[in-house]
Amino acid sequence: MRRNADVVIVGGGIIGASIAYHLTKKGVRDILVLERDRLGSGSTGKNAGGIRLQFSSEINVKLSQRSLPHIERFADEIGTDPHFHQVGYLFLITEDRDVDSFERSLAMWSRLGIPARKVSAAEAKGLFKHARTDDVRFGTFCAKDGYADPSSMLNGYVARAREAGVTFMEDAPVMAVVCTNGRVSGVRTKADEIGARTLVNAAGPWAAEVAKLASIELPVQPLRRHIFVTEPVPGLDEDFPLTIEFATGLYGHRESGGVLLGMADPNEKPAFDDSVNWDFMPTVVERALSRFPILERTSIKTGWAGLYEDTPDKHPILGKADGVEGFINAAGFSGHGVMHAPVTGELIAELIVDGRTSLDISALALSRFRTGQLVREHNVI
Ligand SMILES: Cc1cc2nc3c(=O)[nH]c(=O)nc-3n(C[C@H](O)[C@H](O)[C@H](O)COP(=O)(O)OP(=O)(O)OC[C@H]3O[C@@H](n4cnc5c(N)ncnc54)[C@H](O)[C@@H]3O)c2cc1C
Repeated sequence: MRRNADVVIVGGGIIGASIAYHLTKKGVRDILVLERDRLGSGSTGKNAGGIRLQFSSEINVKLSQRSLPHIERFADEIGTDPHFHQVGYLFLITEDRDVDSFERSLAMWSRLGIPARKVSAAEAKGLFKHARTDDVRFGTFCAKDGYADPSSMLNGYVARAREAGVTFMEDAPVMAVVCTNGRVSGVRTKADEIGARTLVNAAGPWAAEVAKLASIELPVQPLRRHIFVTEPVPGLDEDFPLTIEFATGLYGHRESGGVLLGMADPNEKPAFDDSVNWDFMPTVVERALSRFPILERTSIKTGWAGLYEDTPDKHPILGKADGVEGFINAAGFSGHGVMHAPVTGELIAELIVDGRTSLDISALALSRFRTGQLVREHNVI
C-alpha cells in the first residue's frame, strides 16, 4: 500500500506518543506513528516511572522544570490519571567524592528556583525512617519529585492523539528510510511504502539502527537495567520518598504494597539483551537490606530488565540531523525519557511546526559529539 503522511514518527513509546499528541495541539493531523511491535513494548513498559528535578546539568533541570507542570496537570489535560505520587526524591550522599558536586548542584538548583534542599542525616531519617543513615554525609530532598505510571501516561497520549486523527500502526517496523536529494521523502515498512517529508526518530534504544537507515550515525547504545519488586512489607505502611543511595545507584520506591528496587550493574555492556540476569539479584538484595533493613521482613516477588538508551554524555539527542533534511531525532534519554516526554513532545512539535523551540536545546544537538561539546551530568548512574 502506498500512502502519504505529513509526519512519520518511528517508535510507539512515550516519546513518540507525546510528540504525536503535541503535534495535534499545533494543528498537525496527518501523522503516522509506526511501531515495530506493540505500543509501549520498549523501555516505556519496563521502567521505574521516576520524575525528578534534581539533575546536575542545567539543561536536564530545565527539561524537568518544563515537564513537571504537564505531569501535575496530566489528568486534567489528558483525561488519564498518571498516578503521580509526588512524594519527593531523597538522595543520600555517603562518599566524600560526591560532596562537591552535590554542593554545586544545590547552588544551581537555588539559582534556577528548584525547591530542593540539603538535609542532615537526621532529617533524612525523618523523611524515611526505614532508611539507614548512620553513614550519610548529607542528603538532598525535593518534594516536587516523585514517580508516576508510564503506561497510563502513554495510554493517555495515545488516546488523545487518536481522537485528533493520528494513526498508530503496530507490527509496522520501519525497514528503510527513503531520501531524495538529501532530504527524507518516505519510509518503507514490511508491508507499506509511506511518503513523508518529516520523520521523527523516537525509537528509544533502537534509535541508532533507525538513524543508520538514513546513513546517520547516532551514538545511542542499549544498556540493560534491572528492576526487582518485593512482596508487601509488614510495617511499611506510610508513603516515603523515592530514596537513592547515590554511591551505588540503589533506589527504591513504593510499589503495590512492596518496594520497587533498581540498581545499575557496573559490569553491564551495551547489548540488545533484556533477559533477566538473576545472578545480579543477590547484589541488589544485599545493598537493599543494608540500606533499608526493614526489607528483611519480605522477599522478592518479581523482576524484569529493560534497556536504557545510553549516550556518551547521558543526555538526550534532540533536533534536526545535519545532512538529512527532514530527519529529526528525539532519542538517547539515558534512562530519563518518561520524565522528559512531555517537554520533548512540546519542543519537537514546535521545531516541526514553527522551525524553532521555546527552550534552547542547542546543547542537545547531535553535532556535539562531532565538536566535542558534551554536556556534563553527575547525577545519572
Ligand atoms: C529499568 C529502567 C528504569 C527506568 N527508569 C526510569 C525512570 O525512573 N524515569 C524515567 O523518566 N525514565 C526511566 N527509564 C527510561 C525510560 O523508560 C525511557 O527513557 C523511555 O521509555 C524512552 O521512551 P521512548 O519512547 O523513547 O522509547 P521506547 O519506549 O523504547 O519506544 C521506542 C519504540 O520504538 C520501537 N522501534 C524500534 N525500532 C523500530 C523500527 N525500526 N520501526 C518501528 N518501531 C521501532 C520499539 O519497538 C519501541 O516500542 C528507565 C528505563 C529502564 C530500562
